[in-house]
Amino acid sequence: MTRAPSAGKARDKTLVASLLRWYGRHLRDLPWRRTKDPYPIWVSEIMLQQTRVTAALPYYERFLKEFPDIRVLASASEAKLLEVWSGLGYYRRARQMQQAAKVIVADQGGTFPDTYEGLLALPGIGPYTAAAIASIAFGLPHAVVDGNVIRVISRLINEDGDVSRSATKERLRLRVQALGEAGAPRRFGQFNQAVMELGATVCAPRNPRCLLCPLQDGCEARKEGVQESRPVKAEKQRLVELEMAVAVIRRGSRYLMRQRPADSILMPGFWELPEVTGETLTDDCFAGLGIRRGEYLGGFRHGITFRSYRGAVYRGTIHGKPPAGYRWVAEADLTEMPISTVARKALKIALQTKNA
Ligand code: SF4
Repeated sequence: MTRAPSAGKARDKTLVASLLRWYGRHLRDLPWRRTKDPYPIWVSEIMLQQTRVTAALPYYERFLKEFPDIRVLASASEAKLLEVWSGLGYYRRARQMQQAAKVIVADQGGTFPDTYEGLLALPGIGPYTAAAIASIAFGLPHAVVDGNVIRVISRLINEDGDVSRSATKERLRLRVQALGEAGAPRRFGQFNQAVMELGATVCAPRNPRCLLCPLQDGCEARKEGVQESRPVKAEKQRLVELEMAVAVIRRGSRYLMRQRPADSILMPGFWELPEVTGETLTDDCFAGLGIRRGEYLGGFRHGITFRSYRGAVYRGTIHGKPPAGYRWVAEADLTEMPISTVARKALKIALQTKNA
């Protein structure tokens, strides 16, 4: 039976009121929730895109200590920026933040744009981040749609379309926008955060805790008993297993390393040890670099999107000049340099091994 629009709106208002009451009682006390300043809110939103809250917290604190405002961020050196971000991964995010900071300082006198469109025009700020900053910092009515929101709303309306399709995502965005407009037109930031918090803590991917959920009376997937099958996702790309060999070559207190090109898609500008990858690697896998593979020092696992690497760290030797692009880097300088995650893992293994 189709409900009259006003009945639907009244029902949405009741659901949102219940959600906001729940949020008021259960919200986690996080530093970025204690401010309306768009700068720290932006920093937290960018960090949380690929990182869990507990893992992001120390990085957030350090980032704001090193770059307390947008002008300091805009004028920071790239090496410092990458060093502070090091460990969070997806380094393009940090570079784009600095580009956006430069634009804000140069074009807007250091003041954040206070419209959704103005935010969206900045480098690295897409619809999700623009909606998050617009609603949380400026109280503007823009729904955020992240993985948590998609899960909650697709269960709430029992959406059975594939959520990797943009038409399905748009349907969910319109639904969450309508919910916010009906129930929290002047508290949109809180509403957005409440939906995300519900997805993060109650409406979990596995075993959602429906009996504790403030939306349980309106949840269509729960009524049908299909909540664990929502959202519907197309089959994921199969994980490809590969091998990776890393050579640690030491001369005195220096290591043989190279800086990744600035236009590299992965970790541009980061320093790495000689490494090779392939389906199966032979004893002479470093021959193309003029390096002889020596003693095995240890192994590690490393994942990049759909590739899973079984890594092996070896002592290596070279005779004569370093291979093209490589140079000797003093161990003492490593703490001040952006180091790739693989090199970090390999050096840790090497340092645990005597005389490596
Ligand atoms: Fe998620 Fe269950 Fe709440 Fe529905 S009732 S929104 S499935 S936690």
